[in-house]
Parts: sequence; structure tokens; C-alpha cells
Amino acid sequence: MELLLVEDDDAIAEPLAKGLERQGFEVFRASSGEGALVALAERPRTEIVLLDLGLPDIDGYEVCRRIRTDSSVPIIVITARGDEIDRVLGLELGADDYLVKPFGFRELVARIRAVTRRAGGRDEAQEGPVELGGGLVLDTRAHRVSIDGEEIALTRKEFDLLALLASDPGATRTREEILEQVWDAHWYGPTKTLDVHVASLRRKLGDPTLIETVRGVGFRLRDPGEGSSAGSTS
Ligand code: CA
Repeated sequence: MELLLVEDDDAIAEPLAKGLERQGFEVFRASSGEGALVALAERPRTEIVLLDLGLPDIDGYEVCRRIRTDSSVPIIVITARGDEIDRVLGLELGADDYLVKPFGFRELVARIRAVTRRAGGRDEAQEGPVELGGGLVLDTRAHRVSIDGEEIALTRKEFDLLALLASDPGATRTREEILEQVWDAHWYGPTKTLDVHVASLRRKLGDPTLIETVRGVGFRLRDPGEGSSAGSTS
């Protein structure tokens, strides 16, 4: 499995790269933001990116955002800054998970396995495009969302959140269930992150009523058959 390690501090990067190689990863290193973008462009088969936020040239958040403009490669952010804003921002920009320095090596490997497993599982899903009402079409297999035929760019988490709600339109998913399935059992961050993602998803979908808030419980996708004359799509 090809892994890109973006870290400017050799004292951290070297032992980390060696450890990861022992775990069977093919490790490529970059020590700057520009270097990371170039390395990723050169290696389209990269399956995971470990991204330090404190880089000498471009801010790690910006690197994350730029990677996400044309790639859905899983990104684990590594940061020395552990406060809540950083966490929310890091995830909103499309990172899949994060670790705060100092972290244990086994913890890192467990996170990498969890993130790549989720990414792989989605790619193997054989579902075709599903019409969800309001012109919204979700294609899990192609990892695409469109409204009235126009593609909407979602971050990985936004897509996973929508896919989870869309797996059973009209059914309420509790906050705990969503955090566990979209973020994973390792998620100890603020649950506010979920609200940030729902808000941004609603904004992108352009119809705030598509995702309904069930106060004190969770969220659900508006039932496409409810209150409209939505016909069969087959
Ligand atoms: Ca650094």
C-alpha cells in the first residue's frame, strides 16, 4: 500500500517512515506542502496521506483543501495543535481523521487501517445511481452526487454522511450512530463537528429541507415519496 508521509521534521519523519515500512507500507516522503502536491500528482495510486499541518511553505489546511479539489485519497492529519477549532476545520476541509502529537505508533497504524478499510469498502459497493427526490441523485459506486444533473462537490465526510442518511430515506439516524459510522469508533472529538458537516451539506445541496433535524435525536433524509408525486425511477 503506497503511503505519502508529509512531515518537515526529519526527527519525526524518519523513525515514522521506518516503522511504517516494517508494517508493509511503501512510504514516500515530502517535507513541504508543494512537495506533497507534486508527490501525489506523480503517484496516483497513493492510498493514504499522513499530513502534518505545520509545514514550512503552505499551511497544512491549504494542502488538504488542494488535495481534495481533485482527489478523494484518505488523509490523516497530524497536528501539534489540538484545540477544537483546528479539529473542526481539519475535518471540514476533507481530512478523514487526525492525530494530535505526541501519538503512539500503534494508534497511528490502527487509524490508517480503519480509514483505508472504510475507503475500500465504499469502492466495492455495487450500488448504482439512486434518485432521492428533489432532483438529488446519489451514486455510491461512482462516488458522485448531483442535483438536476449538475454535479455537487462534497468532501468525503459529507458524502459518507449523505450516503448513510440515503441508505434508508425517512429513517432517523441518531447522532451517536452517525458519528460512529461516518467518523468511526475512534472519534473522541466534539459532536459539534457533525452539525458543521450537516450545515455545509445543506448549503451545498441548496435545499435545507432535504436533511431534516430530529431535535434531540439526530437527522434523517426527507422521504422522497413523502408529500410529492415522485414516481418510480425504474
Ligand atoms: Ca512540522
